Amino acid sequence: MSDNFLGDFHPDNFYMGQALREAQRAYAAQEVPIGAIIVKGDQVIARAWNQVETLKDATAHAEMLALTSAQNALGDWRLEGCTLFVTKEPCPMCAGAIVHCRLDRVVFGCSDLKAGAAGGWINLLESNPPLNHRCEILSGVLEGECVSILKSFFREARERNALGKAHKKAGRQGSDFG
Ligand SMILES: [Zn+2]
Repeated sequence: MSDNFLGDFHPDNFYMGQALREAQRAYAAQEVPIGAIIVKGDQVIARAWNQVETLKDATAHAEMLALTSAQNALGDWRLEGCTLFVTKEPCPMCAGAIVHCRLDRVVFGCSDLKAGAAGGWINLLESNPPLNHRCEILSGVLEGECVSILKSFFREARERNALGKAHKKAGRQGSDFG
């Protein structure tokens, strides 16, 4: 029997679904749609979405905001016994923070071969020689959904961009005639 036998009811799939909901919030706010949640036992102790544009803060990745919120919830910077679910593979900044907070496990949806730091580009979570902490990694959970929300966001952004340029061009042409 495979691990995925339970489908949507498998806890990893269920929690990734929750992280995807956070990504949808980011999408609605015109942020790159990445969402994260942190689970301890069977409790969701933190939820966050990427807010780089909203907060004008390049460190406001979903994972960073979720880590801070989880530390507040537990009143401890040590997140031992916790699992982070995030829709896209963490970047080096987030992976570094994950190691500092000593999470047990990181589960992500889609890999980032260009900038991922959980095996896509480099691996800070299971580095050799290891950093002061190692995390278990599981990738590819609800991968299709996690990829597709990012793809549609960037497709829309490109279309908006192209439309903006076309409008500008039309505006210039208009002024030529005006
Ligand atoms: Zn990051």
